[in-house]
Amino acid sequence: MSDVVEKLEEESMVYKTLLESTKAIPWRIQWDSLSFSYIGPQIEHLLGWAPDSWVSVQDWAERIHPDDRDWAVNFCVAQSKAGVDHEADYRALCKDGSYVWIRDVVHVVRKDDGSVDALVGFMFDISERKRTEQRLIELQRELEALSFKDGLTGIANRRRFDSVFEEDWEQARRSGKPLSLLMLDIDYFKQYNDHYGHVQGDYTLKLVAKVLEKAVRRSHDFLARFGGEEFVLVLPDTDAAAARELAERCHALIEQEWIPHERSMARKALTMSIGVGTVVPMHGDERLSFLELVDRRLYQSKQRGRNMTVTSDD
Ligand code: GH3
Ligand code: MG
Ligand code: MG
Repeated sequence: MSDVVEKLEEESMVYKTLLESTKAIPWRIQWDSLSFSYIGPQIEHLLGWAPDSWVSVQDWAERIHPDDRDWAVNFCVAQSKAGVDHEADYRALCKDGSYVWIRDVVHVVRKDDGSVDALVGFMFDISERKRTEQRLIELQRELEALSFKDGLTGIANRRRFDSVFEEDWEQARRSGKPLSLLMLDIDYFKQYNDHYGHVQGDYTLKLVAKVLEKAVRRSHDFLARFGGEEFVLVLPDTDAAAARELAERCHALIEQEWIPHERSMARKALTMSIGVGTVVPMHGDERLSFLELVDRRLYQSKQRGRNMTVTSDD
């Protein structure tokens, strides 16, 4: 053997050892026959399929998750035909039936005349990265849900109310249907806390939220904790009579619960005062002034002795 051949063989052994000792799995596809001319032995360790089972591109395509297959194959074929280096993430099928997330990084080797000669590439195991990504997406969702939820009662919070109220307002403006709003405030709750303690106060707030949830019957009706011991109900497509009826149902359900309140001047059980308003929002109608109007009515019901509903300004 000539020195040159010996040297070339030695070099190629070095490359082979290097390629086959990396975590990335090297491969080569001959373009004219669409068959594998090489795949690193590491593939067996990762997916369970022996190197000699990778014969044609068909073997590759069949070992892609059905949901990723069309996209991955079409994309890689189109890019290869166009002679463009590319990469694709997909789930590869393991021999035991499970899947592993792979990033396939592909380089297109061309002949002198510019036509495609072969594809060479590396497959990387990116399952760990995908798991982290997935966990991050889940965490973000949890965070989003938490930021719209009141920590104590578990119902929607003030932030959520702001966005729902704005949406329902716009919807009512477009449809020309009446929108009603109820603001509900527990009577003498400061005295309740003073008498029964804050822990019991918290418990009662949770209970009141549950009772009010029961009062809500239609899927579009929306209940939120407005703050402190105040709640709010947004009722799309609800006229004044139906809104008043719902307010009465809230009073009745709270009364039925009969939460003892020794220090209340209204009754020896917990009560609420409610302000109600109904509006068909017109162009230029101010959402916040409507909210203020309902709040004034709530204040009126406090002024007039509490445990009642005020639905008009007179
Ligand atoms: P009114 O009948 O006029 O509504 O009187 P009130 O005592 O209910 O109203 P006020 O606004 O004077 O007091 C509200 C009380 O609600 C005071 C506050 O300590 C209590 N409160 C607000 N948020 C919470 C909470 O998260 N937990 C508990 N335990 N109490 C709360
Ligand atoms: Mg109160
Ligand atoms: Mg209050």
